This record gives sequence, C-alpha cells and structure tokens, in this order.
Amino acid sequence: MAKFLLLIAIVAGLALWLLKGRKRVEPPRAPGAGRDTGATAMVACAHCGVHLPRPDASYDAEGLPYCGEPHRVAGPRRP
Ligand SMILES: [Zn+2]
Repeated sequence: MAKFLLLIAIVAGLALWLLKGRKRVEPPRAPGAGRDTGATAMVACAHCGVHLPRPDASYDAEGLPYCGEPHRVAGPRRP
C-alpha cells in the first residue's frame, strides 16, 4: 500500500513538473498587450531592473514598467 501511495506521489509530482515546464515555454508578451493568460508574467523595472509581477508594476506614458512610483517618476535609467 505504501508503495502504491509513493507511486501516486511521484506521478503527481511529475505531472506538475511537466505543466510548469510547459508554462515556461510560452513566449513573453509585450507589456500591456493582450489579455493575461493566467500565468503571472514578470516585467523588469526600466529604472533599476528588478523583476516584479506585471499587475504590480506601474507604467509610464510610453508603457515602460517600473517597480514603484519613485522609479516611475525618475524615468528609465540611461547609460
Ligand atoms: Zn525600480
């Protein structure tokens, strides 16, 4: 019985791993384009480069993502 439960756990783990692997293959979408696919897309702050979930980012008039209001006001970091 214990072996049967272990087998189920392994199969479930493998299925989850395969599902996660599939999500990673999806091509990244441009910020603000289209609808959300359900997976939380990540964007990089245009000022400091930190990654955050797209719904949590603030956007400027050009559609560039920022981690927060201070960096949105500061604008994109220029080299
Ligand atoms: Zn930032």
